[in-house]
Parts: sequence; C-alpha cells; structure tokens
Amino acid sequence: MTIFNGKGVYGAVALGRISVFKRREAAVKRLHIEDTEAEKARLAAAKEAATAQLQEIYDKALKEVGEQNAQIFEIHMMMIEDDDYNESIESIIDTQSVNAEYAVAVTADNFAEMFASMEDAYMQARSADVRDISNRIIACLSDEGNDEGGSDEKVIICADDLAPSETVLLDKDRVLAFVTAYGSSNSHTAILARNMNIPAIIGAGDDFLKAVSDGMFAAVDGYTGEIFIEPDDETRTRLEKKQREDEEKKRLLQDLKGKENVTLDGTKINIYANIGGVDHIGAVLANDAGGIGLFRSEFLYLESSDYPTEDQQFAAYKKVLESMAGKKVIIRTLDIGADKQVDYFGLAKEENPALGFRAIRICLTRPEIFKTQLRALYRASAFGNLGIMFPMITSVSELEKIMEMCSKVKGELKAEGIAFSEKVELGIMIETPAAAVISDRLAPMVDFFSVGTNDLTQYTLACDRQNAAVEQFVDTHHEAILRLIEMSAKNAHANGAWIGICGELAADTSLTETFLRMGIDELSVSPTFVLKVRDAVRHTDLSK
Ligand code: PEP
Ligand code: MG
Repeated sequence: MTIFNGKGVYGAVALGRISVFKRREAAVKRLHIEDTEAEKARLAAAKEAATAQLQEIYDKALKEVGEQNAQIFEIHMMMIEDDDYNESIESIIDTQSVNAEYAVAVTADNFAEMFASMEDAYMQARSADVRDISNRIIACLSDEGNDEGGSDEKVIICADDLAPSETVLLDKDRVLAFVTAYGSSNSHTAILARNMNIPAIIGAGDDFLKAVSDGMFAAVDGYTGEIFIEPDDETRTRLEKKQREDEEKKRLLQDLKGKENVTLDGTKINIYANIGGVDHIGAVLANDAGGIGLFRSEFLYLESSDYPTEDQQFAAYKKVLESMAGKKVIIRTLDIGADKQVDYFGLAKEENPALGFRAIRICLTRPEIFKTQLRALYRASAFGNLGIMFPMITSVSELEKIMEMCSKVKGELKAEGIAFSEKVELGIMIETPAAAVISDRLAPMVDFFSVGTNDLTQYTLACDRQNAAVEQFVDTHHEAILRLIEMSAKNAHANGAWIGICGELAADTSLTETFLRMGIDELSVSPTFVLKVRDAVRHTDLSK
C-alpha cells in the first residue's frame, strides 16, 4: 500500500480502479512504416471506432440537449468521411512511409490552417472541428479512444489537472472520484465534483502521478485528502465502513426535504442551487432547492464547437425554466476567459488571464455575442421566473451599457411581436473588490446582488484561484472578504435590492450564522449541499 496526501475539496469516500486521464492532444511521433497497406487498414479501423463513438455521443446529446445541439456530432461523422481529408492522410502514409497518427496530425494542421484563413465565419469555425475529429482518430489509433479505460466500470480519474473543457467531455456516469496532482479548491473541477457528489482531491503532487497507472486499485478519502494505492485489508475495511456511514449521514438529511429554511427564532432564507448545465436540473429537484441561484451559462459554449445560436440557447434556457415550474431561475450571462477557454472565440493568450479579457468585458466588446444571448434569455423568460445576472462587474458605466443593451433587446423583441416577461429581475455578481466598494452606487441600478466568493477571494487576497502554489495563502474566512460581503449587504438593502451568495463559501456551514446576521437573503450552493445548509440554518438561533 502507498499513501499520498492532497487537499480534499469534497468530502466523500470512493473505492475503485484508477484511470489516468489521457489528453487527446498528446504529442504524435513520426515513425517509419514499411507496410503502408497495413497502416491504412489500421487507419480505417480507427476511423470506424471514432465514428461509433460519435454516434454514441450524438444519441446521448440528442436525448439530453436536443437535435440542434447534437447536430455538431453528425457534422463530425460526415467530416471523417470527407474525400479530400482522407486522400491527404493516405497520400502522406504512402508517399512518406509514415505512421497513420503522424499523417492524421499533419493533415489536421493543414486543414485547420486552411479553414482558419477563410473569410466566412462558418468555415473558420470548422478549423476547431477538423482538429477535434483528428484528435479522436489519433486517440483511437493509440487505443485511447475512451478516456476512462474502455469498460463500463466506474473509475477514479487521476490527472495532472483538468481544464473545464476537459471535464465537460468526461462521461460523468463513469467517474467515481477525481484526484489531481495540482489544481486549487475553487477550480471548476472541484466545483464539478461537488455538483456530482463524488470525492475530489487536489494537489496530490508529482510523485502521485508517477506512481499511478490504469487499473490499480485505490481508496480515496475526500475528507482527509488521503489516497491509498492498493490499500491493505485493514484500510480497505475502514474506508468501506466510512463510506457506509457517510451515505447514512447523507440519507438522514433527506428527512429535511419539504421543510422550511428557517432559523430557531423564525428568520427565513432562500436556499437555491448552482448548476452548470441542463442535465443538473434532476439534482436540483432531488435535493429540494427553492430555485436556481446560478446557472453558469458558459457551459453551453464550452460544450459546443461553435457559437451556440439564439435558438439553441433559447431551447436550453426554456427547458431549465419550465423544469423549475415557476421557481426562481437566475441565469448568468457568458463568463468565458481566464480558466474557461473556448477555441472558436479566438482569444489571445494572456500573461494574466484572471486579470484579463473575460466575462462581461468580452460581451461588451463583442456585442453580437452578448445580444444573441440576451435575446435568447428574454425569449425564454416567457416560460418561467427568470433572473439575469452579469459577471465580473467593476464599474457603473459597464452596468449602464448592459442596461442599455437589455432595453434595446426588449425593444426589438417587442417590435418583432415576440413574447417575453416584463418581470425579469436583473442583478450583478459582486466578485471584484471594486464592485463591493461601490455597491452603494450599483445597488440602485439592479434588483439583486449575488456574491461570487470564488473570484472575490482571488481578487481581494491577490491569489490566483488556478495557482496551486498560492493555495496556502488563501484564507476564505479573511476579514477583508467578510467585510466586503457585509458592506454589499448593507448597500443592497438600503437601496431596495436583495443579496445572495453563490460562490463556494455559501456552503461553508461554519459561516451560515455570520451570513444570516449580515442579512443575506439567499444562499446558492451545489445541489448536494442544499440539505446540509438547510440543516445548519434550522440549528441557528439569531435571538442570542
Ligand atoms: C464566483 O466567482 O464565486 C462564482 C460563483 O463564479 P465562478 O466560480 O463561475 O467564477
Ligand atoms: Mg466568478
């Protein structure tokens, strides 16, 4: 048995086999091949496997996100059969006597460059697609077509770190736990693990990564941050017991379903849930959340290989609103950039992405993207109780521009005779110190504030949330952060706005009483934390 230690970012226990995450863009080697006919046969088999995978993804997407969103996988299947693409690969194998992986990679580079240089925006976007299908074929050639090990067994995913765009592609039904060598507690992998109710450990270190390989058995304790590779019998029995007790504790919380979020002295609060996609609604309802306090709409963009159209977005938002049947649904506008990168946006590489071109800054600079999303949101508002929230606000003038854009979109929809609700609440995230400090100026302009403590912490403490090296300097309970939240709460209430918290700190039950005393009106947490926070609220007495 070998033991490694990291930092547990979601308390749960899992036992199972390890699958080391393989990055699709793994470097391709150029190898000399004698038998080019055999190499082409290997290529044909890999293409067949890639098409079968795409068919499976297409069928799944069709069920989960509808035909329009699934279409891209159909396009990918067609691209694999494209004559020019295939002639190029085969001719490189024949003329240069090289391996199929290399021929596919070279073809991908040539075609991607050709598409990228075209005038037409649609054709430009195909550049990312040709890379995508080529990476899939290369993965199939290398027998790595399935990132999680090839069978249906659930596995513990081990990686150096995982980007949001990588986690969205994982088959979530097959993940038992996440363990990363690096990473930070507020990274989106950690958030995803909380949403999925599975253990996650970050910062397990380089040696951990060197020690693990596919198929090893491991036990992961997300409470202590320990990973036991090939655990001995005693450890295995102890962790299996802990897992059973843990499940029992979570089962007991189920008794709180249908109960109010009310303190012992009668103060009520809303407890909502955070989601990153339409497929999380089941967890929101199963955990009895009163609404959705944060729908991270950027995941629609991350899951797609081109800008999602107004109709595609409308369908997704409508589905969320209808599923929540009149309960509040707060959808946050696009928060791309920093750690959430999307190829087709063509964003330049930045020295300091967290302080860079992200979120509302992109939307205000590229109004066509923002307008498409706002039109989809307002159209969907006719189907439920919508709130729209804007991320990364730092100034009054940004908010003025946003309000102007909202009025313009509403005016256009009215002129086109398209229905929308007049009751849509508009709010902003308080996730920069600037927004908190000028919250007296911002509050009169909005219906609500929602404190994004993940970013507010990184910007207040000057600690990049993606940088594991500064993790030790992050004190989530730092007085500066709590004062900024309190200041925002006072200013919200003085101006008739309500205030919630939707960052990870909202689920920290050691602060529930503090937040209630500040007058926070809503806490929005991962669906799996709703009942835990309800329990904490019901044990709080503010009269003392
Ligand atoms: C936050 O910053 O606290 C937040 C909720 O947004 P995200 O984690 O998506 O940046
Ligand atoms: Mg944020």
